[in-house]
Amino acid sequence: MQSSNIPASSQWAISDVLKRPSPGRVPFSVEFMPPRDDAAEGRLYRAAEVFHDLGASFVSVTYGAGGSTRERTSRIARRLSRQPLTTLVHLTLVNHTRAEMEQILQEYSELGLTNLLALRGDPPGDPLGEWQSTPGGLNYANELIELIKQSPEFQHFDVGIASFPEGHFRARTLEEDTEFTLAKLRAGAEYSITQMFFDVEDYLRLRDRLVAADPVHGAKPIIPGLMPITSLRSVRRQVELSGAQLPRELEERLLAAANGDEEANKDEIRKVGIEYTTQMAERLIAEGAVDLHFMTLNFTRATQEVLHNLGMAPAWGAEHGQDAVR
Ligand SMILES: Cc1cc2nc3c(=O)[nH]c(=O)nc-3n(C[C@H](O)[C@H](O)[C@H](O)COP(=O)(O)OP(=O)(O)OC[C@H]3O[C@@H](n4cnc5c(N)ncnc54)[C@H](O)[C@@H]3O)c2cc1C
Repeated sequence: MQSSNIPASSQWAISDVLKRPSPGRVPFSVEFMPPRDDAAEGRLYRAAEVFHDLGASFVSVTYGAGGSTRERTSRIARRLSRQPLTTLVHLTLVNHTRAEMEQILQEYSELGLTNLLALRGDPPGDPLGEWQSTPGGLNYANELIELIKQSPEFQHFDVGIASFPEGHFRARTLEEDTEFTLAKLRAGAEYSITQMFFDVEDYLRLRDRLVAADPVHGAKPIIPGLMPITSLRSVRRQVELSGAQLPRELEERLLAAANGDEEANKDEIRKVGIEYTTQMAERLIAEGAVDLHFMTLNFTRATQEVLHNLGMAPAWGAEHGQDAVR
């Protein structure tokens, strides 16, 4: 990958990326999280290089709980967008006043970032805890989209949102969840990326619900979010943090692979996990998913193994170095 000073104006809008023909293969994209230190940030850039070379359609950079990664998120997104990699930057409402949100949007604009994932975020420290309003702030993601769409200086943002195959854990019913997701799409979001899920039926039912409730806005692309499974401990942790469910059948397969000793049988668990994620991806491709979005945790190996199983990448090799292993 060439490091260069390519202006971020070379960035595609993700809603256009999703319309680009991709004969013979389904596009894939990857999510990165701003790490805590510079060494880990270096690893993230090396992972981005691997995914660039494998042909990722775009990369996304998350926004740490409560604005904790504000500077790192901007810096990483800016650097990736110059690589060139179409880059999606996340933004959440937590701990920010409306004026601060406008300031961050302004900063993103000045950095040439044009793809934004508009999110509410969760309370820092306890993602499943009570939502805390910020005085002078916004309370729901649709309000951020409205702010963007009503401000002449932010019209260049191509906006995506989060959607939830199992329904958001704070929504009382799936109908309510559908209505709130549609409110974000009607406010001007062009597509959604889903929360991780482990049952493809949940993704398909979300798609059905949205389009049945609103054939125009509900038909906007829904990009499935996939977390390649590499260990029981990490999948349980991710599920706990996100409010998603681990299907019993999957948990039983992972437990059988563990055979009472997760450490001794970690390769077996990984094998079952990667196979499971591959099967999910195969079904999603067959069902016409527009893109597969991999939550990488900044590692390359697990995602590349799934892509390899799908015939979309060479086998993962030791040339990537030990730091890329997961
Ligand atoms: C793809 C993806 C990426 C993510 N990236 C990040 C990230 O970078 N940083 C981070 O901190 N978090 C991130 N999250 C987590 C996300 O912020 C949380 O899941 C959060 O709880 C919900 O965010 P939202 O944007 O969907 O919120 P909203 O759409 O605002 O919904 C929040 C809750 O309120 C309800 N609701 C919505 N509108 C209304 C209304 N008008 N009246 C009453 N209730 C309403 C919804 O049903 C839902 O239960 C991500 C999630 C996904 C799926």
